[in-house]
Amino acid sequence: MRQGFFDKFMSRLDRIDAPVASAHIAELARERGFLETLFQSIDEGLIVVGAGARLLYANRAAERMVGFSFEERQGKSLARHLRDWGLDALLCAQIGDWSRIETRVAEVSYPEHRFISFYARPLPFDGRTELMLMLRDVTREHAAEEDALADERLAAVRTLAAGVAHEIGNPLNALTIHLQLLGRGLRDVPDLALRESLQSLAETAERETSRLDGILRRFLAAIRPAKPTLVRGNVRDVLDATLRLLSPDIEQRRINLQTAFPEAIPDVFLDAQQLEQVFFNLLRNAMEAVPDGGRIGVTLTVDDAWVNVSVLDNGVGIPTEALGRIFDPYVTTKAKGNGLGLMIVRRIVQAHGGGIDCASRPGEGTCFTVRLPRAERRVRTLPAAKGKAATP
Ligand code: ADP
Ligand code: MG
Repeated sequence: MRQGFFDKFMSRLDRIDAPVASAHIAELARERGFLETLFQSIDEGLIVVGAGARLLYANRAAERMVGFSFEERQGKSLARHLRDWGLDALLCAQIGDWSRIETRVAEVSYPEHRFISFYARPLPFDGRTELMLMLRDVTREHAAEEDALADERLAAVRTLAAGVAHEIGNPLNALTIHLQLLGRGLRDVPDLALRESLQSLAETAERETSRLDGILRRFLAAIRPAKPTLVRGNVRDVLDATLRLLSPDIEQRRINLQTAFPEAIPDVFLDAQQLEQVFFNLLRNAMEAVPDGGRIGVTLTVDDAWVNVSVLDNGVGIPTEALGRIFDPYVTTKAKGNGLGLMIVRRIVQAHGGGIDCASRPGEGTCFTVRLPRAERRVRTLPAAKGKAATP
C-alpha cells in the first residue's frame, strides 16, 4: 500500500502544485521516519551494501554486532572489514544462484568475540543489485554447541581409555605373574653368578611392569567419569591438603607462594578427592608456567552464591588464540604434557555444579578461577524452567 502511494505520487509529480507536493513529501518523511525507527529498534542487524561492497545502510544492531559506525563507514567498502563474509562473491552471484545461498555463520573478534549468523538477499533496485544482510547474534547458541561438542569429545576419550585399560591391562597382568614365576624358577639355577645376574634382570623387568601398571592405573583414575560423592565440606581444607602435597616442590624451586583466605568460608558440597585433583592440576600448571623463584597466588573469595578459588601465576601466559582450546583433551604445549589436566579439571568442576574461567596475558601470567556453589544456595545452579526465573 505504501509502495502504491509512492508510485502514484511519483507518476503525478509534474502535475502536482507546491503545497500538495510538500504535504506529500512530509508524509513520505513521516513514513521514512517510521521505517527508520522500526529498523533501529529490531534486535536483528540489518546491512545494505551496493557494488564493491560499499555500505549503504546499517542499523544500530548491526553496528553493535560487527563493530563499526555507520556514519564513519557510509559509502566505504566493507569487503575488508567483513573479510570472511564473501560479500564480493555474493554481489556477483547470478539471481538464479540465490536460491542456493544459505544462512552462514561468521566469527567476529571485534568489539568482542561473537558468532553472527547472517543471510543475504539481493535487493534489485533501479537496475542495480544491492545486497541486504540480516544478522543475528548466535554466540550463545554457538557456546552451547561447543559445550556439547566438548562433552562428545570427552566421551570419545573415555571410551578410548576404557579400551586401553582392557588392551594393556590384561597382558600386563599376565606379564607380572610370569615375571614372578620366572623369579621363583631362577632360585634353582645352580651357577651363583648366572643366577644373580638373571635375578637382577628379572627384578628390573618386574619393577618396570609395576611402574607401567601404576601409570595406567593413575591415568584411568583420572579419565574415568567417576561421579563425585558430594558431602558438605570446606574448600579451604582441600586447598591446604593440596598445598601440603606440593610444598616440597614449591620450596625446592623457591617459588613465592602467597595465599589469601577469608576467615569464614561457607561450606560447599564437594568430593574432597576429586577437588584435590582440580587444585593439584591448576597448581601444577602454574608451577610449570613460572620460572624458579616465580610467583603463585591462591585466593579464596566468597559472594552470594559462590565460593571462588583463583590460582594465579606470573608465568608464560597463554596466547589469546589458544585460550579457547586449553580445556580440550590432548592440547598441550609441553614436551612431557598429556593435555588432559584441564579437561579433567573442568569435568570435575562441572560435576560439582560449578564453573571455571581463565584469563591470561602472554608473558605476564595466567589466572584460573573455579566457582563452586555455596551449599545453602545450591538451588541456584539448577537450570531455570522455561519462561520462569530460578528461585534463589
Ligand atoms: P598439560 O599440562 O599436560 O600440557 P593441561 O590440560 O593441564 O595439559 O594444560 C593444557 C595447556 O594449557 C598447557 O600445555 C599449557 O599450554 C596451557 N596452560 C595451562 N595452564 C597454564 C598456566 N598456568 N600458564 C600457562 N599456560 C598454561
Ligand atoms: Mg597440566
